[in-house]
Formats: sequence, C-alpha cells, structure tokens
Amino acid sequence: EENLKQIKKIDPLVKAYLYVDEEGALKEASKADELIQKGEEKKLLGIPISIKDNICIKGLPTTCASKILQNFISPYDATVIEKLKAEGAIFIGKTNLDEFAMGSSTENSAFFPTHNPWDLERVPGGSSGGSAAAVASRMGLGSLGSDTGGSIRQPAAFCGVVGMKPTYGLVSRFGLVAFASSLDQIGPFGLTVEDTAYLLQIIAGYDPKDSTSAPIDVPDFLKSIKENEKTSYKIGLPKEYFEGEIDAEMTKIILEIIERLKSKHHIKEINLPHTEYAVATYYIIAPSEAFSNLARYDGVKYGFRAEAKSLIEMYKKSRALGFGKEVKRRIMLGAYSLSAGYYDAFYLKASKVRTLILQDFLEAFKEVDLILAPVTPTPPFKIGEKISDPLQMYLSDIFTIPVNLAGLPGISVPVGLTSNNLPVAIQVIGPHFKDEHVLSLAYQIE
Ligand code: GLN
Repeated sequence: EENLKQIKKIDPLVKAYLYVDEEGALKEASKADELIQKGEEKKLLGIPISIKDNICIKGLPTTCASKILQNFISPYDATVIEKLKAEGAIFIGKTNLDEFAMGSSTENSAFFPTHNPWDLERVPGGSSGGSAAAVASRMGLGSLGSDTGGSIRQPAAFCGVVGMKPTYGLVSRFGLVAFASSLDQIGPFGLTVEDTAYLLQIIAGYDPKDSTSAPIDVPDFLKSIKENEKTSYKIGLPKEYFEGEIDAEMTKIILEIIERLKSKHHIKEINLPHTEYAVATYYIIAPSEAFSNLARYDGVKYGFRAEAKSLIEMYKKSRALGFGKEVKRRIMLGAYSLSAGYYDAFYLKASKVRTLILQDFLEAFKEVDLILAPVTPTPPFKIGEKISDPLQMYLSDIFTIPVNLAGLPGISVPVGLTSNNLPVAIQVIGPHFKDEHVLSLAYQIE
C-alpha cells in the first residue's frame, strides 16, 4: 500500500511505469501477510519489485514500449519471474523503456518519456530508464532490467542507484524479449549493493530453456561481499576510458574515489587498445541480431495487426505502423550489414573486432583482478538534447558497450553528486563469472 501510494504521488511526474498492477499487487500482498503470520520464510515475501516491460510476466502486458506489442499479454513467465515468484516477490508493475530496449534515454518509448527523479527536465538514461527511476524514487524496492550495451548500468548511473549486468550466461534470458541475443543479459537494480546482490542471487543459475545459460554453481553473493570486505584487489584503470571528452567535474569525483582506494588496493594503469572501435562494432552486431529477432513481428503472431487487402500488405503496414523510428533505423542497419556483398565487410569484420575487444580484456585480467572506469562520459543530459542526433546518443554508451561485447560482468555504483545535484557513478568490471568480486569491490566503494 505504501508503494502504491508513492506511485500515485510521484509517478505522474516521473512516469517510470507503463503499467501498475494495483489489484494484483494488493492481492499478492494480503496472501504474503497470511504466509508471514504462519511463519513462512521466503527471500522476497511481500517485497514489491518492478519489472522492465520487455520481460514476460504471465497474464500481464509485455509491450517493449512498442505499438507493435501494445495489446500483447504474456502467456508465460520468464525464468527470472518464476524464480522471483517462488521467493514471494510482488510484481507492482511494468516499467518504461526505449522501444525494444533500443536507446539510452527512454525517449524512444512509443508511449511517453520517463523523467529523471533528480531533475525532471533530464533523462533517466536508458533503455531501462523506468526501472532505474522507479527504484530511485522508492516506487518499488528493486527492479529487473536488461543490458545489451549499457541499459542497466547507464540508467543506474543517471538515477543514482546500483545496477548490474551479470556475466553473459549467468542469468537466464528465457522470457526476455530478444533484442541482440549474443549481448542481452537480465540484471538487477537496487538502492544498495547488498540489495542488488540479494536479487542477483535469486535470479542467477543454469536454465535448460536458454541455450546460452551457463552450467555453473552460483556462489553465495551476500556471503562473498561480507567476506571480501577487507580484500585488497589489483585494480586496473584503462587509459582509454579516462581520455577524450569526459565531463570534468564528474572525472574529478571519480578520481577522488580512486585516490581513496589507493590506501588499500594496488591500482595501476592498463590499456584496452581496441576500445575506440567498440561503438562501431556494437552498431553492426546489435542491429544485425535485432534485424533477425524482430522479423517475428509480422502482424500475424503478436499484438498489432494493420488492416490490409493482402498478406504482404499486412506485413508491410503492420511493421510500418507498429515500429518506431529508432527500431526501423536498427532494422535497416542490420539488413544492410547482413546483405550479400556487405556481410564480409561489415558483419564478419565486426565479429572479428569483437574478438579483439574481448582479447584486450583477457590480457588485462592477467595483470589485474578488476577494472574501474566511468559508466558514462557525462551526467544525465536534458530531455530532447540528443534525440535528433542518433550518433551523439550512441556515444553515451561508449564505456558500457565493450563489457557486453566481451560478455563480462559490470556494475554501476553511485559515488557522489555534481554541483547541480546530478548523480555520478563508477563502474566495476570483472572477468567472466567473477560477479562476486565485482559486487565485493562495489560494496567496498559504496
Ligand atoms: N543504448 C544502447 C542501444 O541503444 C544499449 C541499449 C541496451 O543496452 N539495451 O542499443
């Protein structure tokens, strides 16, 4: 009830939610009350959680903030939802995103933009902007988002909350609407590193329904962050992440944190020489995969169907009217890069550069345990500032994209505020399946 009250008060301003399941949430809450009275113990019994609207919850809408899925109701639960349900979580609603998770500001939602709770004239980041804004403004105690090129870490940084992209394969993607399957990963948002670790514990683990799910034992993240509270790490600062056009005040705050860490950790400069190609590589690979994944929205199987006189006309009209501008741009980019005659020059080349980017990290992790970097080049920008210039928008993910291309775990931790009260964050990046150490250093920094 408190959470719903907060949503009624704050969400008309922030607009984090696409859908609030008031009735369902209250029903689940009274069930939880009964179970608590009976002494039942579950990890999330009665805890209100919001979910990005590209993750399926049975019986609720899953729109991906797209007109093409406007009337779509999920017939099944994503694996992460099954796991949260088993622990008694209450799903308070579905949060706003850039259409099909394509964007960095939540302005690409087909329905409305979300506002940054710290400054309503600014973007909350994206694409999981609704999830980050909901947690930041206490409209739910945690949230799940998805991160293909930064969509959890960047909005977490912009909204001053913790957000983590786990190692690719640690969390099942079954029931997450696919954008770029080799990059997508579901991850948690929390107000603290502890909350984030707590949620990750519940959603992580092998799932036979996802062919890229990793058959590994999931460590006890909470135990690990407490045990490692005093661990000294070898930390690398990638030179390429501190050069170029980065906001000066933000860099100063981040460097102060790094100075402080020097008393306990061994910090050294490292090189990730292929960083400069990451954004270009991503914008070949992600649209190519999206082009293929989005072929299923043809007006036949899901959601929106346009009136038409023939089958072909129905396909064309449904897609023309159902998809927004950015989604169409990605489909065109993907179609082009995969076309005969262009495949070798674009898709194949990008796949090779992706391997070089991964190798940079693998080399670095021979010398250091973890990497520290900024999450974004600037604090949250104004609504409308970048929307008409896609290249500018794409560059806001320059520090998060390499982590997805390499499949590594990364977390965004809030570390301070600029002079005009905008959140500043730091990113911890770790080797594959060392999520526990990423969380541990984040816990020390927090
Ligand atoms: N902003 C990036 C994009 O538009 C990343 C999005 C994401 O991680 N889902 O593709």
